[in-house]
Parts: sequence; C-alpha cells; structure tokens
Amino acid sequence: MTKPSQGAADTACRVDELVEGLDLGAATRDQVAEAAGRLVALGREGVAHLARSALRLAGPRREKAAALLGCLAGQAARWAAREVEQHLEKRLLNPTEQMWVMALLRRLDEAASGQDADASAPALHDALLDDETELLLWRDEFASLSHEEQQSVLAPILQDGSPALLRLLEVAMSLQIAAVDAAVACGLSRFATPQTLPLLRELLRRSDPVVRRHARASLVALERQGVDVRDVFVATAESDEPVRAALATPPQSDGRIMVLVARGRTPARVRFAAVVVDPVELGIATAWGESGLTEAEFHERVAEYARKMDQRLVRVDVEMAQALVAAGEDYARTRRRPLSPDYLVWRRCIGRPRAAVQLPIVFGPACSRCGARLRGGDLLRGGVVAGRAALCARCAAKPLACAACGKPLNRHTDEVLAREGAEGATLELLCHYCGHGARDARGR
Ligand SMILES: [Zn+2]
Ligand SMILES: [Zn+2]
Repeated sequence: MTKPSQGAADTACRVDELVEGLDLGAATRDQVAEAAGRLVALGREGVAHLARSALRLAGPRREKAAALLGCLAGQAARWAAREVEQHLEKRLLNPTEQMWVMALLRRLDEAASGQDADASAPALHDALLDDETELLLWRDEFASLSHEEQQSVLAPILQDGSPALLRLLEVAMSLQIAAVDAAVACGLSRFATPQTLPLLRELLRRSDPVVRRHARASLVALERQGVDVRDVFVATAESDEPVRAALATPPQSDGRIMVLVARGRTPARVRFAAVVVDPVELGIATAWGESGLTEAEFHERVAEYARKMDQRLVRVDVEMAQALVAAGEDYARTRRRPLSPDYLVWRRCIGRPRAAVQLPIVFGPACSRCGARLRGGDLLRGGVVAGRAALCARCAAKPLACAACGKPLNRHTDEVLAREGAEGATLELLCHYCGHGARDARGR
C-alpha cells in the first residue's frame, strides 16, 4: 500500500464537501444526478472514497451518499461496486447494514451491467433479497431501531426505485408501523412497475388515513408513469418459483387445518411456508416457514412435524392449499383480526389460487342444529366442528344419540366421533364403536 498522496486527500475532501452540500429534501432528481456527475468527474478515487465511507456515515449523510451512488452508471458504478463489495468481505455487518450493502450493490451491478458483467455476483444478492429467513432477520433488526433510524434505513431503498428492493419494503410494511407505512406509501411512486401494486393494495387497506392518502397519490403518480394500475384490487405478491409440494392436514375438531406449500427451482434449494387456518376465530392462526433446505431436509421437517403434532399431512391440490389460506386471510380481514407480520412475509410462498375452489371447511361455521354462529368459546365448552358442519356448545350439551346405532351418547365420558353428514349440511355424532367402524371402512 502506498501512502495516500496529497492529491488523494484533496479528492476525499472535495467528495465530503459534495455530500455535505447536497440537500435531499430540496434537490430534484436531476440535481442529485448533476451532483453525481461532479463526483464522477473526480475520477475513480473520488467514487471509491464515497463508496468506502458510505457505511461509516451516520443516517442522513449515508442517505445522501446512497442517493449519489444510486445515480452512477457504467464504469463509475462498477468502481463503486468493487469498493462496496469489500465491505462485505472485510467488515462484520449487522443484518441491516448487510441488507443495505446488498441493496446498494445490486443497484450498482445493474447500473454497471453490460460491462464486466459478473454472472455469479448478482445471484448472491438476488438470493439474499428473496430469502425469507434472511429477510426476517433483517426485519427483526429493523423493528428494533428507533423511528428516526428506520426512516434513514428506508430512505436509500425508496430513493433507489429498483423492483428487486420491493421485497425489503414489503417486509418493513409487515410490521405495520404507521410512520414506516407512510414513508413506503409515499416512496412507491418511484417504482414504476406493476410489481408495486400488491404493496399499494396492502397500504390502501391500512387503518391510518395518512397512509391511505399517500398510497392513493402514489397510485396516481404510477398511472402517469404508464403503469396499468387497474390490477391494484386483485394484485397479490407471489413467488415465481415452481411449487414442489402442497400438503394439508384433514380438518381438526376445532375446524383448523394446517396448510403447507413448498417451492424451489432446484431440489438443493427448497423453501416452505406453513399456515394454520382457523375458520372459527382468527382466520389465520399462525404462520412459519424455513428456507435454504434441500429436498431431503424438507421431507424430514414434514415428517417431524407430523410425528410431534400427531397429525397426518396429505398431498392436496395446490389451488386448494392456496384457496384455504386466501379464505383465511379474507376472513381475518372481514372480522378485523390482525394478520401476523410472519404471515405477511411467508404468504408470498403460498400464493393465491387462480380459480375458485370448493373448500372442505366453511369460515364462520354455524351450528347444524340451531343455526347459531360458532364462537371460540363454543369449542372450549364442548362445541365441535367437522369440516363444513358444526355443533354449538349449547346444542352439544343436550342429550345426543349415535347417528348409526341410536345409542345415547355422553360427550363427557365416552369417546365420540363427529363427522359431516350429507353435503356438509348436518353434523353426525358416532359412538366409540360405530366411529371406529366408520373410520376403518374409510381405510384409515
Ligand atoms: Zn346449536
Ligand atoms: Zn353407535
């Protein structure tokens, strides 16, 4: 290494002045681009200095550095990318810094592409920006920041406008923090792509009127930029990776079904999302998943879950799996039940059904005897759900008889099997003996 020359120190000084003099609040995009032009005029050393210092700068200055770096193209972008890459190699970055560097690097690689295209590098960034496990780590880190820090993490991402970064914004939105939602709703106008629509759709449904107003304004701005916004009411985010498996448990006695969808381009890299759908109370009870699995590891996870929870997971039509989750989400929304941040991240792996599907359960089931709608409390006091049919706690407390042999049933002392009657319109209860016979006849 040579000692930095007087010339290099001068350059560094002029770069710092340039960053200092930039007022992102007031500058137009053209003015930022013009400042970036002056940076490039300082040569490779100037660009490299800015890229090197970008991570050391605190919030608002880092934002300015990112805005300048975001304007670079061609060779200058390549110079900056090479410097930024060294951050990844040399420094121990926390998840936020890592995502920030990934995002920046991605933008720079795109801007430099055509020249010195490095085929392996973008794949790494793609994978990280699309890997739920990495994204959830980033989200948790992001959630722990102060409101000011969150805004300065978001600013360069929103300034960037690259569709690949929408995933980060979607994850930040999953936390449902009004200030974050408002910043994203406002900044989405820079992402002139239909991929923005699922995010705007989500923001248009938020309870905060400021968020909804920003989202509507962004929608208008996108339309002016030539994006066909008519799809905003149907648009949903979905992974474009091929589905490798769709599984579900049979409906449980509380009506819940666990649905699982696995995706992956190769058997060496599989991810899955699992969602417990609750048709009585919550719509979506819980969601979790895992990424970066091999096909063998995935099958191990499924077997382990089935063993631990004593549940059978059977292959189902992928549209059926998707329809169950979509109906659960819609039910949660109509009942104003909160959707968990984890669900909002994992649901992309599930996807939405393209056709109408006849579901094996109904959401908001009613008692087959008295017609009353079941509540969560019914299930705690003896009520039962069997697929599309149900029995409320009050009717379950009345004298009941086995639907096959007519023997009186005591739900407190006998093992009783509930099943759907014809067309799911009635609920039948069977005594222990008839119940086992029916189960054996069905080949279990
Ligand atoms: Zn009833
Ligand atoms: Zn019987």
